[in-house]
Amino acid sequence: MLRTHTCGELRKKDNGKKVQLTGWIDRVRVVGKTTFMVLKDRYGRTQIILDEKSKLKRGYCIKVSGKVVKRKDVNKNMPTGDIEIVADKIDVLSKSKPMPFELDSENVAEDLRLKYRYLDLRRDKIQNNLMMRHKIINFIRGEFDDKDFVEISTPLLTKSTPEGARDFIVPSRIHPGKFYALPQSPQQYKQLLMVAGFDKYYQVAPCLRDEDARAHRSPGEFYQLDVEMSFVEQEDILDVIENVFVKLVKKILPNKKLTFTKFPRLKYDDVIKKYGTDSPDLRKDKNNPDELAFCWIVDFPLFTKQSEDDYFYGAGKKWAPSHHMFTMPKEKDLKYLNTKDAGKIKSYQHDFVLNGYEIGGGSIRIHDKEIQEKVFDLIGFTKEQKKEFKHLLEAFEYGVPPHGGIALGLDRALMILLGEPSIREVIAFPKNKNAVDLVVDAPSIIPNEQLKDANITLVSKKSSESQKREK
Ligand code: ASP
Repeated sequence: MLRTHTCGELRKKDNGKKVQLTGWIDRVRVVGKTTFMVLKDRYGRTQIILDEKSKLKRGYCIKVSGKVVKRKDVNKNMPTGDIEIVADKIDVLSKSKPMPFELDSENVAEDLRLKYRYLDLRRDKIQNNLMMRHKIINFIRGEFDDKDFVEISTPLLTKSTPEGARDFIVPSRIHPGKFYALPQSPQQYKQLLMVAGFDKYYQVAPCLRDEDARAHRSPGEFYQLDVEMSFVEQEDILDVIENVFVKLVKKILPNKKLTFTKFPRLKYDDVIKKYGTDSPDLRKDKNNPDELAFCWIVDFPLFTKQSEDDYFYGAGKKWAPSHHMFTMPKEKDLKYLNTKDAGKIKSYQHDFVLNGYEIGGGSIRIHDKEIQEKVFDLIGFTKEQKKEFKHLLEAFEYGVPPHGGIALGLDRALMILLGEPSIREVIAFPKNKNAVDLVVDAPSIIPNEQLKDANITLVSKKSSESQKREK
């Protein structure tokens, strides 16, 4: 190792030790013939004293060899503030241009930060957020492991099905004219895993949806904590999630206060009547970001009226699924599975709400082929559209267990848990508001050769003009 210690490690007890530290110069000041520096890495900061006038600059990546000495003027604001390193040698590992913006300034345009995200990620605040993200996901994995869940990765190149959002599509080179789709969620695979007998599944899963940016939604891609279980009732699913989140807050976020340790189960009709929304903010003090009020919303209607967004369902049909088309209607309402009465049907959908935001949703699934067909009919699927789900209906003919699950929007949940105003503060390399990754400049134009290889001809005027320019 180039270092003996990290920049957050040394204390009074290390007085006199010979050490080597590596990191970035966070601050540098020359006073007379002495150079004072603060060296930073992801573990913390340490003051360095060099007995000469140096030309070292902020941002340089260096290696310091020297001795730990007790500081006379202890800096109470730094965990390492009791000591400093008197350097006898400094190696410049690499130089740095001046920073393109003041890292700690509040007034930097977000797009500039996002273009240089690798520098922006040096900020304490965001480093802490990513560290907390890691800790929280790690804790959740541990909890699910303890409860006998298996994490299974599902495919990223899959099939376009009319599941709810617009798909990102990927051309196949090997099968000209055919396309994969990136998964909107692992929904169908996790249901197939239930047929396979993996009765407790979870996955930290990337989900890709070609949607416009909306507040508190990262455009294009996000991560879900995806869960599915067999041989369960709705309450069993809510219980598992609730148990994990109560423990998580107590162990990892001890400064946060839970409004409820048993999360209320509220009926959709009641919350709409009482709060005018299906994601109510139940905090006692609405201005307190350290208060966490989780609740469950249940007894949703199975269908809502179709809107213009529901372009993929049968044109002119009245009904769209409130959650998704695999959601099980309440048994007592099965008699209403017809166009006229479908609005009366309640379902086994459950939404997970935190401080006024929907952070997750799921349901008990339909595992009866006939009910599934009826739901497809009511949302107006054509024969062809139904065929797109053939694999699922076929799988259900081989001893499908009753099952259900949920998925949580991890980025959004983390944003609220960490009290951040924007979802981008908890994502390492987020897209900007226009769905552009400014670091690598994606999406980007692709060379003609590559397009040809993928059997793609561009027709849109704008793109073909850019193609010509490329040539
Ligand atoms: N796949 C669903 C979603 O992404 C969640 C679920 O029903 O488990 O919303």
